Amino acid sequence: ACLDRIEAIDPRVRAFLHVDREGALATAAAVDARRAAGEDLHRLAGVPIALKDNLVTRGIPTTCASRILGDWRPPYDATVTRKIKEAGLPIVGKTNMDEFAMGSSTEHSAFGATRNPWDLERIPGGSGGGSAAAVAAYMVPLALGSDTGGSIRQPGSVTGTVGAKPTYGAVSRYGLIAMASSLDQIGPVTRTVADAAALTELVGGFDPADSTSLDEPVPALTEAVRSVAGQGSIKGLKVGVVKELSGDGYEKDVIDAFKDTVERLRGAGAEVVEVSCPNFEYSLAAYYLIMPAEVSSNLARFDGMRYGIRVEPTEGPVTAERVMAATRGAGFGDEVKRRIILGTHVLSAGYYDAYYGSAQKVRTLIQRDFDAVFERVDVLVSPTAPTTAFKFGEKTDDPMAMYLNDVATIPANLAGIPAMNVPNSVSGEGLPIGVQVLAPAHGDLKMYEAASLIEA
Ligand code: GLN
Repeated sequence: ACLDRIEAIDPRVRAFLHVDREGALATAAAVDARRAAGEDLHRLAGVPIALKDNLVTRGIPTTCASRILGDWRPPYDATVTRKIKEAGLPIVGKTNMDEFAMGSSTEHSAFGATRNPWDLERIPGGSGGGSAAAVAAYMVPLALGSDTGGSIRQPGSVTGTVGAKPTYGAVSRYGLIAMASSLDQIGPVTRTVADAAALTELVGGFDPADSTSLDEPVPALTEAVRSVAGQGSIKGLKVGVVKELSGDGYEKDVIDAFKDTVERLRGAGAEVVEVSCPNFEYSLAAYYLIMPAEVSSNLARFDGMRYGIRVEPTEGPVTAERVMAATRGAGFGDEVKRRIILGTHVLSAGYYDAYYGSAQKVRTLIQRDFDAVFERVDVLVSPTAPTTAFKFGEKTDDPMAMYLNDVATIPANLAGIPAMNVPNSVSGEGLPIGVQVLAPAHGDLKMYEAASLIEA
């Protein structure tokens, strides 16, 4: 049914870069046979899933929506891919994204933008617009994304899907093509909070192949969601509203929907207090220095020798350096080049302390802001994105306007804490609006409890 639906509507939405019809049907048939033989299968066995195209899948094209990877077919599986295969979920395909996950609209995909199923003239968010659109349009019930500065949550907000960034290290990054390693985290894209919980339980957990993987048990998220949904309230839950994340620059409909949610939480027995995180003012600036610094170093591996395309200079000697330059010149899009140039600049001798060094200090201050407020509250809530889905082209000529869309999602990545989007309303124009729930590091369980309260 998912494959038929993809065939019917994806020519208009364009959420997928690659559909693996045969592979998905083969997995489904194998699961049926095992079930018929009475085997005890994983509870998600047979449930179709889509993967963002920066997650490596053995033998299946993995492009990061970039020309530079050509038709690269990875020789190995990401840890999340392996777990999904072992549990018997058919992987129906790979979803579109901004090139190398850089963007908030999927307009930076080398293969054309994905459209928002709610309004085909509007962006589905980014960078994981493909996974969000695929789930929002009922093409698949589950998808995986990656979140470096909001790429799961902001698409969730503008497409009405649930999306979570777990605590940094909770899901292995082995086989996630790195954007900014200290910020990247894989997470679920689903229709409900319970589905996000179930998928996280499947893909999470310690992995010796990722040196930043947390060596601790996966929290019992499904159980927590079930018990909160059953009660419809959490007595004594302390919720903080971050003053700095709900004022200027947010659309009126977004703020109104957010206020409604806060009232709903109060009604469900939560104690709501306003808190202040004064250093959040600098989070965009810090992110857009630290992220490109890591990008410039991670993307050095695309050199025309190891993966994907190789372009030789049209004239002059064919040296390693000149092949590298020609390949990167032809293979990377403008936004990727912009960030590599920014990154190499901020890391260069003489500028390092002024830019990268200062940004790292700001990062610590943001972490301390979170530490201080989490002494007073269990979770924080904020709007996920300042606006509803904007129209194609609206922000493409102005990188700063595009970057501003990440204002509410970035602090969680800088601090490594869990954060998720829960759809909570629809604007006057009929576009989805989401609310963000944030919890302290390792506090994913509390985040899911609050999220299921908001969803209910
Ligand atoms: N919009 C952010 C950026 O462009 C988000 C990136 C991400 O989370 N992958 O950097």
